[in-house]
Amino acid sequence: HREWLQALANVRPVTSDGQSIELKANISSLKELDLALKNGASGVGLFRTEFIYMDRTMLPTEEEQFDVYRKAAERLQDKSLIIRTFDIGGDKSVGYIQFPEEDNPSLGYRAIRISLAQTDMFKTQLKAILRASHYGSVRIMYPMISSLDEVRKANHVLEQAKKELRENNQPFQENIEVGIMIEVPAAVIIADQLAEEVQFFSIGTNDLIQYVLAVDRMNETIAHLYDPYHPAIIRLLKMTVDSAKRQGIQVSVCGELAGDVLAIPLWLDLGIEELSMSVQSLLPFKNRLLHTERAASQGIIEQALLCKTSLEIRNLLERSRIKH
Ligand code: PEP
Ligand code: MG
Repeated sequence: HREWLQALANVRPVTSDGQSIELKANISSLKELDLALKNGASGVGLFRTEFIYMDRTMLPTEEEQFDVYRKAAERLQDKSLIIRTFDIGGDKSVGYIQFPEEDNPSLGYRAIRISLAQTDMFKTQLKAILRASHYGSVRIMYPMISSLDEVRKANHVLEQAKKELRENNQPFQENIEVGIMIEVPAAVIIADQLAEEVQFFSIGTNDLIQYVLAVDRMNETIAHLYDPYHPAIIRLLKMTVDSAKRQGIQVSVCGELAGDVLAIPLWLDLGIEELSMSVQSLLPFKNRLLHTERAASQGIIEQALLCKTSLEIRNLLERSRIKH
């Protein structure tokens, strides 16, 4: 079965009636990038860089980071690489940064909040990413954005990073694209405004579900409440995609839900053109996509929005699949 699945690596991801979706990979290391390419990923939709910061005793230098990002860009050649700036904090703490005592770390000092408080550390990473952009098709993504202010402040640091590189005659992609994770409910609610300031959205369903449903994604006791098919989630997906499309920016999905085969009709009907998923999901997902009819998912969103329970939504999605 494995060998048979592996043979799909070079097959184009397309529905039985010809609708293609780009399948990209979520990675956190160069080793995982090799697996992603082996499994036929057409790019990297999420490079989780926080792992470069973990399991060590001091901050990674600009050179150390540049080395990793450049290698990733080179291995991908003209395939796109979205590098997410560090999402440290929450469940991913590192020893050499002073973290306050927090009752609710996932609502606390993490991700872009650290970046904007410790701008030297942030700028170092941005310079490393910018320099790597000279070697491939690199884009930048900010995590945990909850306001327009944060985007503007982050972009301000990005401009400083660019200026410093220019002054040192270090080459980089001048018009590098910048996007944000949509993973905090506030970002969905103001998505129309955010869409005016960035070039792309990537929906992070892992955190979005946690924050919208107020269910800690790591808490086993309430894991049954962590429900990707809760009607509220469908509404938020629709709102986000509508805002992106109205502004004409690209929207993809990179949370675990992206690689859930049950969600395929949702992605097709929402008009999602790109999904980014764990390297293990790529081939099973493609296999299911190849046997899914795009036409059968027509109108699914409208119907899902009328559903009142997660079970109704799941049943709807099951039924919409073509039978074999
Ligand atoms: C997400 O929140 O959906 C996501 C992709 O990011 P992470 O899992 O790294 O928080
Ligand atoms: Mg997240």
